[in-house]
Amino acid sequence: SLIITDDCINCDVCEPECPNEAISQGDEIYVIDPSRCTECVGHFDEPQCQQVCPVDCIPLDPDRVESKDALMKKYEALTADT
Ligand code: SF4
Ligand code: SF4
Repeated sequence: SLIITDDCINCDVCEPECPNEAISQGDEIYVIDPSRCTECVGHFDEPQCQQVCPVDCIPLDPDRVESKDALMKKYEALTADT
């Protein structure tokens, strides 16, 4: 999963770009729901939120490192839900 740092300026550019609806407005900054973030695996080659964020505040979460396989399984589970 990726994580939004407190450098976030609440510009709202990333939220509509997420194919998994993993991003939402939190109390102070935007937040990523790690259970829905596939790092865009299954949808795109690159994390879409990282591509659009004007202040580059969406790094990989070092506490939630996931393999491509795990991310693909998460994508499959999310799409099976709908
Ligand atoms: Fe959404 Fe992709 Fe960003 Fe994860 S990396 S929050 S799935 S846009
Ligand atoms: Fe925050 Fe970046 Fe998303 Fe804008 S694009 S709301 S600065 S994380």
